[in-house]
Amino acid sequence: MKENEWAKLIEATAIGGRIDGVKEACGVFGIYAPGVEVSHLVFDGLFALQHRGQESAGMAVSDGQEIVVSKEMGLVTSAFDARKLASLTGHLALGHVRYSTGGASTWQNAQPVYRSIGENGFALGHNGNLTNVAELEEEQNMLPGISSSDSDLVAELMALAYDDLRDPESSNTLEEVLNLVLPRLWGAFSFGLIDTKHLIGVRDPNGFRPLCLGRLEPTDETPGGWVIASESPALDIVGASFVRELEPGEMVIIDQDGPRSSYPFAKERIDPRLCVFEFVYFARPDTKLFGKEIHAARHRMGQQLAEESFVEADIVLGVPDSGVPAAEGFAASSGIPFGQGLVKNRYIGRTFIAPTHEARINAVRRKLNPLRESVEGKRLVVVDDSVVRGTTTGQIVRMLKEAGALEVHLRISSPPFAWPCFYGIDTPSRGELLAANMSQSEMADFLQADSVAFLSLEGLYKAIDAGDAGLCNACLTGHYPTPTPVSITERPTAAALS
Ligand code: SF4
Repeated sequence: MKENEWAKLIEATAIGGRIDGVKEACGVFGIYAPGVEVSHLVFDGLFALQHRGQESAGMAVSDGQEIVVSKEMGLVTSAFDARKLASLTGHLALGHVRYSTGGASTWQNAQPVYRSIGENGFALGHNGNLTNVAELEEEQNMLPGISSSDSDLVAELMALAYDDLRDPESSNTLEEVLNLVLPRLWGAFSFGLIDTKHLIGVRDPNGFRPLCLGRLEPTDETPGGWVIASESPALDIVGASFVRELEPGEMVIIDQDGPRSSYPFAKERIDPRLCVFEFVYFARPDTKLFGKEIHAARHRMGQQLAEESFVEADIVLGVPDSGVPAAEGFAASSGIPFGQGLVKNRYIGRTFIAPTHEARINAVRRKLNPLRESVEGKRLVVVDDSVVRGTTTGQIVRMLKEAGALEVHLRISSPPFAWPCFYGIDTPSRGELLAANMSQSEMADFLQADSVAFLSLEGLYKAIDAGDAGLCNACLTGHYPTPTPVSITERPTAAALS
């Protein structure tokens, strides 16, 4: 590839200040456990959800009388230490890890967001992205863009709605405010909320982002409790048992009487569309969705990929970490041995943000290095979960060839990512998405691979094996389940990237 082509792609990457790839957009963890100091459990829960967001971490803790919020930029381990956790006392809490998709990556936008209403206050944590921010601001006569993030806007709408409550002294104020505000929201939102006495979990009517409910069993000292979390491993880590996933459009309210459900959205808006990329990439391999562990689905994606696009080769290797289960599946199905060919530096907590083009190229080198003796003189099948801008993929191919690989055949365990996501995943515009601008053979040339093949949509659904459960596939098909906030009809050509 010509240097200026790389520069162009790397420049595109710089728009988000990140290396190529789709990025998760937050994790939520809430707990109600009378008799237990829960801050250290929130820490553990957030630690289990760290992959969903590494820009900031925060928690709001209530002792039944007041809420204290603590949040910092960075990883969970740098945001909280033992001293800080000890200062956050209470049995009710909400935690959040953030990756910004709407709103800047600043301390002000770190979550939970706190607002006082009446004599009380509430804290809110959001996983997802609203698609009708401009309309909501207009309805409320706010200046466009006045809210620092869509989550901040929701908190503001809730504070304003408090004034419309018939009985602001009601003990269910938070729930009643949500009943007024939630039906006005469109897009993706799995919310966790607390006031001084309640923990609430909400999933939008499409259920784009996951949210599950767990149970802490009673002990001799405590009556047990309840947990909500973006993914089930966050339940495991605090010793809670998985109860169920919240339904799309469901609000679960937890207090001293246990959990109860309410359904604040119009029935016609309920249209389950869990993000298909939770299966491909976002969720942890040990997370259960639709009752099944993700790891096995990724393995089947690789098997299916081998059936659809077999190629003669000496080794199959996966791009660490998320490409590895699919690579194992590809190897099992094709009979080509699975091997290690790329070593990942595990101490890179978040993607390195480099200030110059050259340094950004090197950022991939900081993360991955080839095992020269394993790849030299070999024909490789390299399995990855997706190609977004192509920046990382191209560098991996180049790195493997420089290490002596004879052939590099890219096999991608999802269909081409050709449309932007508006539902809480940080993706570039269509102009920057490789699959929106190039055919597969053009991509192979561009990435300097000997061949490129993607898993079919049918193959992906077969591997996920979720029956007729509804899935969002808008970034693969352009079929958006809700109105989008901007026009997405533009289709730049390959020439636009050359
Ligand atoms: S558009 Fe793609 S990434 Fe976004 S929610 Fe839908 S399937 Fe997930």
